[in-house]
Amino acid sequence: MNRTPTASLPRIAVVATGGTIAGAGTAPGDAASAAYRSAVVSADELLAAVPGLQRLAALRAEQLFQIDSADFTDDKLLALARHVAALCARDDVDGVVVTHGTDTMEESAYFLHLVVKSAKPIVLTGAMRPGTAPAADGPANLLHAVAVAAHASSAGRGVLVVMNEEIHSARDVAKVHSQRLDAFASPHGALGAVVQGAPRWYRALTRPHTTASEFDITAIDALPLVGVVMGHGHMRREVFDAWVAAGARAIAHAGFGGGTVPDYLNPLFAELCARGVPVVRCARVGAGPVIRNANFDDDACGSIAADDQNPPRARLLAALALTRTPDVREMQGVFDRY
Ligand code: ASP
Repeated sequence: MNRTPTASLPRIAVVATGGTIAGAGTAPGDAASAAYRSAVVSADELLAAVPGLQRLAALRAEQLFQIDSADFTDDKLLALARHVAALCARDDVDGVVVTHGTDTMEESAYFLHLVVKSAKPIVLTGAMRPGTAPAADGPANLLHAVAVAAHASSAGRGVLVVMNEEIHSARDVAKVHSQRLDAFASPHGALGAVVQGAPRWYRALTRPHTTASEFDITAIDALPLVGVVMGHGHMRREVFDAWVAAGARAIAHAGFGGGTVPDYLNPLFAELCARGVPVVRCARVGAGPVIRNANFDDDACGSIAADDQNPPRARLLAALALTRTPDVREMQGVFDRY
């Protein structure tokens, strides 16, 4: 749907990819948000369901995918990033909103944050409840996402996730609850909030992103394979070996607390690093730093400490780092910088 541009309104492209925001209940009158199919409502229908949207921006809607966000693969992620970057490069687009399933929104948002070379606002949003649920959250989230994308103050802040009236940085945000409307949180706090229909900012990022990032989607053909292995009691080496056999170029280990590794895995980690498959130590708690050479001798092992990146984001950052260098010290520098 391309609406007639209104000269005074910001021109916002809405890229729909599916998810619960495009979901519908499976039974008439079904009040349970658990009983629905995601990714069935079209981009045009999504926009039409939000009163007041057309007063905020001149909108162009595009249906890039119609999938549950669990079905995002690296190929789809690259396609999304290329699409968003191409939109941002257009003179007739002032900002981009991506509607996306909430399950992997933090991964797509973080990837765009690191590879799209634009200061134009890029905002991801979604919903915890399908549009057919009582008190569906999708319409308000979409309205707020467009309001943020259309606001001049949103430029240059990196990719944003707008959910439940909060504005989060893609660097930090994570889905932390499977059901509640306040399902998204950032360990260092949200950047701001949507107040009376406009963004209100309380924090700014200090780490590089978008225009200042060394990664650029126009120069990336494919992502090197990086696996994630969850730490738990009584671990086995076979799962690491399987990733190596699959061709992984690095393995993110979601260790305990501050990235702690069981003693019995030390020889395996040293072996993997010596074989050129560095272990990236992150933490399954998903918040707080994993510090180089704390609780573990990264220098002796040849491993990398992921700082405060959660395991899914550590996977993406390791893959991006590997597009530039296989050198472990340089990869550590990437984790320190971003
Ligand atoms: N499974 C859905 C998805 O991520 C959940 C959601 O959108 O909230 O696509």
